[in-house]
Amino acid sequence: MNHEDLLTVVHQNLCACALDLNLNKNIEALLKLPRRELHVSIPVMMDDGRIKTFQGFRVQYNSARGPTKGGIRFHPAEIVNTIRGLAAIMTWKCALHDLPLGGAKGGVICNPKEMSKKELEKLSRAYIRAVADFIGPGRDIPAPDVYTNEQVMAWMMDEYSIITGRASFGVVTGKPIALGGSEGRHDATARGGWMAICEAAAQTGMELAGATVAIQGYGNVGYNAALCGHELYGSKVVAVSDSKGAVYQPEGLDPRAVMAHKTTAGTVAGFAGAAGITNEELLELDVDILIPAALENVITLDNADRIQARIIAEFANGPTTKDADAILGPKGIHIIPDFLCNGGGVIVSYFEMVQNFNMDHWPEEEVYRRLDAKMTAAYRQVFEATKKYDVGMRQAAYSVAVERVVTAMMDRGWI
Ligand code: GLU
Repeated sequence: MNHEDLLTVVHQNLCACALDLNLNKNIEALLKLPRRELHVSIPVMMDDGRIKTFQGFRVQYNSARGPTKGGIRFHPAEIVNTIRGLAAIMTWKCALHDLPLGGAKGGVICNPKEMSKKELEKLSRAYIRAVADFIGPGRDIPAPDVYTNEQVMAWMMDEYSIITGRASFGVVTGKPIALGGSEGRHDATARGGWMAICEAAAQTGMELAGATVAIQGYGNVGYNAALCGHELYGSKVVAVSDSKGAVYQPEGLDPRAVMAHKTTAGTVAGFAGAAGITNEELLELDVDILIPAALENVITLDNADRIQARIIAEFANGPTTKDADAILGPKGIHIIPDFLCNGGGVIVSYFEMVQNFNMDHWPEEEVYRRLDAKMTAAYRQVFEATKKYDVGMRQAAYSVAVERVVTAMMDRGWI
C-alpha cells in the first residue's frame, strides 16, 4: 500500500456504508469527488540565495454543512490524492461530531526538518498568499496538521491579515493563545482520543489504570497521547516511535523523559534503558491499546494478522486499510475509527472559531468539558449505529456521518 491509496480506502468505506444507507448511486458518485481544489507553485528564496519552487494544494471536499475545515500538512512525500482522501475524512469528521462545518485539507511538498525557521516562515506566508482567494473565514479555515504547528498558523494569520487589511484572526485555528488561540487546543486531539478510549474501555471491560499502550508517532499528537495516558489515566506507555525508530520498555516509559531525549537526540531511538525496536515491531506488540498517531496506511494486509492489541485507537488519519479492517474485525479487536477518535482537534478548532467570532476566551475547564460532551456523544451515536446496521465501528461511523452530509445536500437542493 502506498500513499496514493488513501482516497481508494475512503471510497471503499463509502461504498460499504452506501449499502447500509440505501444511498442512490448518483449521490454515492458525487460523494466520491472533491468539490473543488487549488494547485499552486510557490517560489521561495532559500537562505543560500537559490529560488526553490514548492508545490502546494488545498482541497475543499464538501461544504454542504458549512465552511470547509481541515489542516495543512508540510511533508516531503505529499501527493494530492492523499490530500483528497484526508479532505474527505475531514468532511465525515465534522459531520460525525456535529460541527457546522464541511471538510478540506491542504498540503505542501517540502521537508521542514531540512529548512531554517526563516525559510519555513517565507513558505508559510507564500502559501497563504497563493491560496488567499480560495480560503477565508466563512469559506475555508485551515489548521495545523503533520509538521505544521501554532507558529506556522501565526504566520499564516498575520499574512492573511496583511492581505485583507484587517485583523483576520478567524482565518486559521490552532493559533497561539496570544493570537486568539483556544485553551486546550494543543493537546485536544490526544485528550479527545483518550475520552473515546474511556468509552471503549468501559464497553469492553478494560481497566485503563495499568493498561499497556504502544504509540506510533511522537509529534504533537503522539507525545500528548503518551502524556494523557500516563498522567491522566495511569496507563503504562510501553513503546513509542518516530520516523527514525522505536523504543520498548515493558515496565513503562516516562513520556516527558522520552521527549527530553528526543529534543536533544532528534529521535526517540536510543532512549536509555529501553530496547530499540522497529516501527513495524511496535505495531505488532502484545498490548492492550495500540495508538497509531503518525501517517496513513500503516495497518495493512501485510501486518493485520500479526496485530495483537485489544483496542486500536486511531489518532492518525487513515492508518488502517479496508483489507486490514476485514482481518482485524473477526479477531475481535475493537477499533475506534480515525474520524471518531481524533475529532478532538477539529472540535476545539471549532470552539476557537466560536471564541474568535465572539471575541471571547474560555477557560481550559470549559473547553475540556465541552470536548468531553462532544466526544462521548459521537462515540455513543456510532455505537448505536453498530447495532442498527449490524456493522463494525468504522462502517457505523461512516453511516452516521455520511447520512448527515447527504441530508444537508438534500436540504440545500443540491441533490
Ligand atoms: N488537522 C486536524 C485533523 O486532521 C485538525 C483540523 C482542524 O482543526 O481543522 O483533524
